[in-house]
Amino acid sequence: MKKIYFVSLLCLSQLGWAQENSAVKYAELITTSDLKENLSILASDALEGRKTGTRGQKMAAAFISNYFSELGLTAPVNGSHYMPIDLYSVTPADIYLKAATQRYSNFSEIIYLGSADSGGEISTEVVFAGKGTEADYANLDVKDKAVAVQIGSLSFGIMAGLRKVSALARDKGAKMIFYIPASTADEFKTFAAQMQGYLSSGNLSLNKPDATSPNKGAFFITQAIAEKLFKTTTPKLNAASAAEPTKKALAKIKPATISYQVAMNIKNVKSENILGYMEGTDKKDELVVITAHFDHIGKNATGGADVINNGADDDGSGTVSVLQMAKAFTHAKKEGKGPRRSILFMTVTGEEQGLFGSEYYSEHPTFPLANTVVDINIDMIGRRDPEHKGKPDYVYVIGADKLSSELHEINERNNKEHEKLDFDYLYNDENHPTNLYKRSDHWNFAKKGIPIVFFFDGIHEDYHQVSDEIGKIEFDLLAKRAKTAFYTAWEVANRDARLVVDKK
Ligand SMILES: [Zn+2]
Repeated sequence: MKKIYFVSLLCLSQLGWAQENSAVKYAELITTSDLKENLSILASDALEGRKTGTRGQKMAAAFISNYFSELGLTAPVNGSHYMPIDLYSVTPADIYLKAATQRYSNFSEIIYLGSADSGGEISTEVVFAGKGTEADYANLDVKDKAVAVQIGSLSFGIMAGLRKVSALARDKGAKMIFYIPASTADEFKTFAAQMQGYLSSGNLSLNKPDATSPNKGAFFITQAIAEKLFKTTTPKLNAASAAEPTKKALAKIKPATISYQVAMNIKNVKSENILGYMEGTDKKDELVVITAHFDHIGKNATGGADVINNGADDDGSGTVSVLQMAKAFTHAKKEGKGPRRSILFMTVTGEEQGLFGSEYYSEHPTFPLANTVVDINIDMIGRRDPEHKGKPDYVYVIGADKLSSELHEINERNNKEHEKLDFDYLYNDENHPTNLYKRSDHWNFAKKGIPIVFFFDGIHEDYHQVSDEIGKIEFDLLAKRAKTAFYTAWEVANRDARLVVDKK
């Protein structure tokens, strides 16, 4: 009985034997020792945290490019693995405000928010507009003037909410906005120092900022400046803000004159994506893209003995996984088992500061996006988050079901057959506050209608810290997750039909 059962099982499993067998054989080439060897280079202190445009990032680029060359992958960008990208770094220069005969410089009692240069000193009338709501503007003329608006206490969290206030002010014709936060002088000072640290390291952008845009940006000013400006007290300003609109209390606050200058330094920063291409066989016009970002956040400006953010997990782990997947597919191809569809192995730059590398590729694709069937993106797969400590091996899967029901099914089935990870879909919810579906490079493919799957290990205690070191990587788990991505890539690259796009 047992024997017969065994034989019949064998027969069943022989269906699709050739393909399955190959996938397993090549997946096994993704080894912990290779992952460790490559990560020990990418996450070493010598690479200084791989910040976009810096020496360390360029060392990583050279290493990856060499790796692709040695594998024999095609260099698809005019014969190079490098896809050059021009970025712009904007840092605040001479920024000041003159109010009521006093001059305030940036990051003291004022903070300028934005990247637009005013093109010299500007003098303007400033109108107190309460909380800056629609009703507040009813009895005010702010066209071509500046407005001063009261807001809540300072924190990085309030920034998003200010967009609405600013849009309404602009809509009413205001050309500059002065936010008056409900923060004490000390709180303001602390926040100004944080902002200075953050903005002085250079805010990157993909498009060259307008050289002069006097009507962009906004200032935070202290309550003390507002008091001097409007020759009144904060309680009185508060009362005017809180009064019934019919009382026209805001219109009774006399407008003041204010002058300001915003000068910015704009520097060109050169960076690059690194691409390795493998041509497919009978379906070579269709393309599978496998991505991970190889940049990270560099060195801390100040700190203790260790100032280097090694980014072993973020996203050294994804980068070495892409390299090992490239190696596995290369071996398959050498043995006549190369993928039917072409594969682009792409490690991208500029992720940490705005997904710039993948955005650039999606706007200047080396291969037509219309023929691109999937992006498999890996960003952090070498660690375990606090929620999964002491639990079975897992990975967060994000986005697989958003555009293609087939991609979700393929990913699920291959995992059940092979690595058997717990797939955690917590962050797959588009309404999850972390918004992870839009927070790594796959998003630049998804927004063009290309199905994506994103593998991720969660937010752990060393996220964006100098302690994101290689010693904390779980290499067995990293290999399992990389193999899981590999099996999905293998099936999508080799199946008869192109992945269906049947959602949205
Ligand atoms: Zn990352």
